[in-house]
Amino acid sequence: MVECQKCKVKKLASKFSKNSSHQNGLQKICKKCNGKYRVANKERIAEQKRAYYRTSKGIAKQLFDKARYRARKQSIVFELDYDWVLGQVQQVLECPVRKVKFVTGDKTFHNNSRTLDRAQPSLGYTRENTCLVSFKANLVKNNGSLQDLKLLICYLHKIKAMKAESWIGKFRSLGLVQQKIYFEEKNNKRIYRKSISVRMLSDAKKRAKRKKLICSLVECDIVVPTVCPIIGIPLFKGTRKKIDNSPTLDRIDNNLGYVLSNIQVISNKANIMKNDCTLQELEQIYIGFEAIEVTKNRLKHYGVIQMQVPE
Ligand SMILES: [Zn+2]
Repeated sequence: MVECQKCKVKKLASKFSKNSSHQNGLQKICKKCNGKYRVANKERIAEQKRAYYRTSKGIAKQLFDKARYRARKQSIVFELDYDWVLGQVQQVLECPVRKVKFVTGDKTFHNNSRTLDRAQPSLGYTRENTCLVSFKANLVKNNGSLQDLKLLICYLHKIKAMKAESWIGKFRSLGLVQQKIYFEEKNNKRIYRKSISVRMLSDAKKRAKRKKLICSLVECDIVVPTVCPIIGIPLFKGTRKKIDNSPTLDRIDNNLGYVLSNIQVISNKANIMKNDCTLQELEQIYIGFEAIEVTKNRLKHYGVIQMQVPE
């Protein structure tokens, strides 16, 4: 039996939370008293927590815990230790990819927050395979490879070139119009495509309203091709949630709204990579990742990166 220092009642050890820094390995006050204290001091505890996550130790703990959680969940290698992560947080002050200073937020992520990137996702969290990069750079690379990023850049260059010579409507000549006729011939498939385009349209309308953009689309404007025009993976719907292959609506120029000449259907993976980045930013991110590959001598894991320009 252990006496609670708050209510002075002797209780079983199971009524106390664990605390390894105390001699008997238990908290000094019982769970019940602790609960009352937490309710009474909710604001103060929350503020203490926020303050902790702004310190190097707090940031490192958060990065370490989340990485370990992901590693367990996906059963991938995890060989990092907290002290190494803390060392990285204290020594690496800017993103090696985007050359911006890391910012320290609360628990939410900003574009310039620290994240742990695995150079080769399948190799897991080892010291050689892991480094700190900004959230935005990590989001763009996603779980994809540099090759996917290269394809995305090539594609955007092509769009840009088309735009330079009054490109409006021209991207439809990338095979999308033919695809629409193709699906009208296949009756059973058409229903599936239709339902997806109806949903994509209603989602687009909601986003347009939120972002105060024009949306002049009608249902037949949204044509889902069989493969992603950017990275070439097949497009199909995930069973419950969005997957890499899910078709998504992309605005080619992020400054323009949802109008026929500015939209295309691409894979969710390519859309996440494109994010709200400009072409220049994407190129900078690509070059940045390539540079840290070389410096950390991790290129061997990738093999030779083949550069392909989509036809
Ligand atoms: Zn008590």
